[in-house]
Amino acid sequence: MVNTIYKRVLLKLSGEALSGNSGFGIDNETVMNIAQAIKKLHEMEVEVAIVVGGGNFWRGRTSEGMDRTTADYMGMLATVINSLALQDALENIGVSTRVQTAIEMRQIAEPYIRRRAMRHLEKGRIVIFAAGTGNPYFSTDTTAALRAAEIESDVILLAKKVDGVYDSDPMVNKDAKMFKTLSYIDVLNKGLGVMDSTATSLCMDNKIPIRVFGLENPDNIIDVVLGKDIGTYIE
Ligand code: UDP
Repeated sequence: MVNTIYKRVLLKLSGEALSGNSGFGIDNETVMNIAQAIKKLHEMEVEVAIVVGGGNFWRGRTSEGMDRTTADYMGMLATVINSLALQDALENIGVSTRVQTAIEMRQIAEPYIRRRAMRHLEKGRIVIFAAGTGNPYFSTDTTAALRAAEIESDVILLAKKVDGVYDSDPMVNKDAKMFKTLSYIDVLNKGLGVMDSTATSLCMDNKIPIRVFGLENPDNIIDVVLGKDIGTYIE
């Protein structure tokens, strides 16, 4: 048996992480690479729950001119599309999964029931939480914080396009410096865009550590669980 530093993890994947280089929609090869990395985690007997974003299709907060609540429901539906894509990729390579949605759509997935989610995890199934929190005005980062607290996850693995948290945008400023560690209050005070403030506060109040790292190499997920110090650690 491999020595991992976490027993149960909540992996947050942004919608963009599934879109490959295009930033929009779903890139099958990218999803399959992520699924393969998740399978390895699973084989290491780590219990894995996943929250997927929807930004590769739709984000409520940037849909100008539309009623915000309607736009947010559209965003939540986008997360369901992504969750089903990830479920399909995982099942294709022999990993048992369940998708649970925060908005009921029983023909497609189970409704979110915490106790049932815990049972699935204990049985070695990967649980994908879809449709965010089910409420408008929230994000899937907040969903990740909420579900991590509910299922008593050891950590949130926040897989991003960028490889950690920087003091300024590394895409714009070539001198941007990456933080190795941060406190939640630093993230809030410095206005670092790693997570929205609702999600950060929820993690702070419930003492859920966050490991932020890049997903350009999906095996980073494995390295983090093996205790390798990559990206930024927030606690
Ligand atoms: N959303 C929501 N409530 C939630 C989670 C998500 O209304 O609890 C909507 C919101 O419009 C958001 C969209 O779903 O913009 C997609 O989620 P997010 O932007 O967090 O996705 P990501 O940026 O991680 O891909």
